[in-house]
Amino acid sequence: MAKLSPLAVKLEEIRGRIEAAAIKAKRDPSEITLVAVTKSAAPEQIREILSLGVADLGESRVQLLTQRASQLDEFVKRRNIHGESGQPSMPDKIRWHMLGHLQRNKVKPVLPFVHMVHSIDSLRLAEEIDMHIAKLGRKVPVLLQVNASEEPQKHGVAVGAAVHLAEQIDTMENLQPVGLMTMAKYDADEKTTRQTFARTREIFEEMKWHKIARATLKHLSMGMSNDFEHAIAECATIVRIGTELFGGKTLDHEDPEE
Ligand SMILES: *Cc1c(COP(=O)(O)O)cnc(C)c1O
Repeated sequence: MAKLSPLAVKLEEIRGRIEAAAIKAKRDPSEITLVAVTKSAAPEQIREILSLGVADLGESRVQLLTQRASQLDEFVKRRNIHGESGQPSMPDKIRWHMLGHLQRNKVKPVLPFVHMVHSIDSLRLAEEIDMHIAKLGRKVPVLLQVNASEEPQKHGVAVGAAVHLAEQIDTMENLQPVGLMTMAKYDADEKTTRQTFARTREIFEEMKWHKIARATLKHLSMGMSNDFEHAIAECATIVRIGTELFGGKTLDHEDPEE
């Protein structure tokens, strides 16, 4: 058997950890999607992760996402047309996840590339997306970002306002609210981290109870390199992993204004 590359080994290790955490929580590992966060990755690492079958990529900045998305779309197309047999299979389509804070004036350029927006934190941002996505003739799945760790400098809707905002977004024609996203405090201990995720799950349950987004509600996007196993224990369905996968130093988890 061919020797696995370091990235392939890492990916297998992380998939193993996701699976083990799911089983420990008595959950089905196939309910959990790994989003590979590419902000610390080199271009050749991104191409490799695609060839390893990972189709969900995440970025926190508009400019990087749009650049990378347009370059990689070309690459995937060429590989699928000219790919020799024996080459690893490429996903047909990359699903880009917009993770970072989104300014309203950046909505229009980024939307054509985006599969899912994780960072809705205000009614005005939701309205802006609703308006532009209508012109593209499709709907977009969105997650409400909740500031469940209640750090004052952090983006995200306040815990107490989340359900109401979700209700408002649910009335918008072109937005599909599919769940919630949160980030635990970066250097928090396990107990605090678990509390942040648990609080987010409670809001999710409350939305269900109120039948908000009844047909589409299914995702809890929580857990990063340093805490994804705790997130899975609290029912995360999407984990967003960057540095643990690609190496490199931890980059901003909370973007400054661009
Ligand atoms: C950077 C980032 C991640 C990935 O963080 P790592 O610690 O590199 O795994 C996940 N989510 C968001 C919102 C981010 O900004």
